[in-house]
Amino acid sequence: MRRVSVFGATGSVGQNTLDLIAREPGAFQVVALTGGRNVAQLARDAVRLKAEVAVTAFDDMLDPLREALAGSGIEAQAGAAAVAEAAERPADWVMSAIVGAAGLAPGLRALEQGATLALANKETLVCAGALVQATAERSGGRILPVDSEHSAVFQALTGENIEAVDRIVLTASGGAFRDWPLEALANATPEQASNHPNWDMGQRITIDSASMFNKALEVIETREFFGVDPDRIEVVIHPESLIHALVGFSDGAMMAHVGAPDMRHAIGYALNWPERRPLPVKRLDLAAVGAMTFRAPDEVRYPALRLAREVMARGGLSGAVFNAAKEAALDGFLDGRIGFTAMAEVVEEVLGRLDRQSGLIDAAMTLDNVTQTDHLARVCAREVMAERAG
Ligand code: NAD
Ligand code: MG
Repeated sequence: MRRVSVFGATGSVGQNTLDLIAREPGAFQVVALTGGRNVAQLARDAVRLKAEVAVTAFDDMLDPLREALAGSGIEAQAGAAAVAEAAERPADWVMSAIVGAAGLAPGLRALEQGATLALANKETLVCAGALVQATAERSGGRILPVDSEHSAVFQALTGENIEAVDRIVLTASGGAFRDWPLEALANATPEQASNHPNWDMGQRITIDSASMFNKALEVIETREFFGVDPDRIEVVIHPESLIHALVGFSDGAMMAHVGAPDMRHAIGYALNWPERRPLPVKRLDLAAVGAMTFRAPDEVRYPALRLAREVMARGGLSGAVFNAAKEAALDGFLDGRIGFTAMAEVVEEVLGRLDRQSGLIDAAMTLDNVTQTDHLARVCAREVMAERAG
């Protein structure tokens, strides 16, 4: 039996992961499941899958979690440190599906013990790509991509030489507002932004899809994961979300991953790798699909893509600043402090201000420095938002 842990088990990717695990009784021993405030769900899944330990990220949720697990014999723990410690429990395969920079520390711990890290949490590579790669190299841990685009690229590269790659093309649905008039964007509400045309995902990534911050993070993730030059990474709008990414080779050929927009494609590939096994996903009827369309992303509508290019050019800890400023700006948008289009303006302002703080961006990429930089960027973003509010 393979020992598996799922971080962010109560979320969208986490639930899809548990779905696949539960379909193969006897194949997996579940070690740790972690979640946030939804401890009822966490406890139900821990009992159903016979986990060793269930961990909520929030200290004040320990008692409710304990109550929900009473009599089950499953350990209950709480707090960010407990989440990270759970990643030290011996496991063969660990799903990283916490949302945000909070996913970084547990992912690093899992790699340190030499586990295979199935990485849905794109923030990990955006904030600390070089550190994460070095950790994996040192311990012999392996990282498998779960973001659908990166899984698609990874699959297209099987048996290929990375030297023969000309370009990597990430597709983007364009999000909730792709057809809105530009002038209307400033007044878009969180509720409107939370409505993804094709994918059913957590609220934060869904809003990041509307602003294209999600694709901006994914461009950086692509660079960090595959080690390709930023100008070989392209983004194209593909409203149907059926092609998840393409790889173009030196002979002009392009390999595409085509499938229904269902995260179990990418999760299942990482779970079964290096084998390919049957998955309960919808088979595409291409005649019924009829057409797939593509168009260039509009940089005015999606300034996040330009910011991602600037971050890659700057390097160092600017990815950690970018992500943290984006997370803080998204918090600001969700609670009504700023409008939709202000998110990119806030992030750009924070990138500029922190770049002027001597030594910050160019400090060594250690977990402490990344955490500290993340903190400073959030503080700075809140200041910028307060200034804008007058
Ligand atoms: P979600 O909001 O549905 O779930 C997030 C999970 O993280 C929950 O279990 C929640 O309890 C937990 N969590 C939240 N804050 C936490 C904290 N501070 N500490 C510890 N745990 C915390 O998110 P999701 O849509 O499943 O996305 C998870 C990650 O996967 C994100 O990084 C996202 O970008 C990435 N991703 C998601 C999808 C998708 O289809 N949902 C696709 C590709 C990549
Ligand atoms: Mg993706």
